Amino acid sequence: MTGKYDLHSHSTVSDGALSPPELVQRAYEQGVTALAITDHDTTAGFGEANGAASKIGIRLIAGIELSVSWQNKSFHVVGLNIDPYNPALLEAARTIQAIRIERAERIAAKLEKKHIPGALEAVVRAAGDGMITRTHFADFLVSQFHVSTQQEAFDRYLAKGKPAYAATEWAEMELAINWINQAGGVAVLAHPLRYKLTANWMKKLLTVFRSAGGQGIEVVTGRCNADEIKRVADYAARFDLAGSAGSDFHSPANAWVELGRLSSLPANIKPVWELFG
Ligand SMILES: [Zn+2]
Ligand SMILES: [Zn+2]
Repeated sequence: MTGKYDLHSHSTVSDGALSPPELVQRAYEQGVTALAITDHDTTAGFGEANGAASKIGIRLIAGIELSVSWQNKSFHVVGLNIDPYNPALLEAARTIQAIRIERAERIAAKLEKKHIPGALEAVVRAAGDGMITRTHFADFLVSQFHVSTQQEAFDRYLAKGKPAYAATEWAEMELAINWINQAGGVAVLAHPLRYKLTANWMKKLLTVFRSAGGQGIEVVTGRCNADEIKRVADYAARFDLAGSAGSDFHSPANAWVELGRLSSLPANIKPVWELFG
């Protein structure tokens, strides 16, 4: 299979800025031939995106990005080529959605203690029918002039160790991988270098990930250099994982991360899309 794959993207059903059809349209304009829509803990955008994709003539891959916990750390696992209507997966997604709401309440309470009221109402309004994420809190803090950028919102309030950080137990990683596999999909460890793990922890993580049924790892991400690609490709080869490529696109306002703007996978890495049935 040839073509331009982008296997990690977000729409308004989670914390993306574009509606599912707009996301598909933009992917098409950027020359993407196969796009995976991978919203946080929901597949609600798939139907609309798929309608647009068949009209435009681009291949849409059903996906989801699950928040998982392992050894008291949080990770993201992308499920690709899933059945977006699989009942067990939808049930699992609802569980994580409930955790998200409960976390949002705790973050809002912590902000209130810092004399920043009204956060919960604002993020609920901003998220609409979609998932509430910390990005929504960051946008709220920017809009209220407490910080000037999303990054500053994380650095000063929302990141681990900061006053409005709320420690959260997501789904167990092994369980989440199982849900993805049950829904006929391929489980891929998302943006592996973002967790800042030591080589030792990365080895432990990938050992568990692989033995739980994980089959892929994002070797190429939206903002990565040749050295980072090589590091992850080495892990992929060592743990017999297929390589994925995904921008993690959220918004046209972020000029650094564009749909389809991805380096190619190293030649020795098996592309994850070869696992799609
Ligand atoms: Zn992620
Ligand atoms: Zn993402």
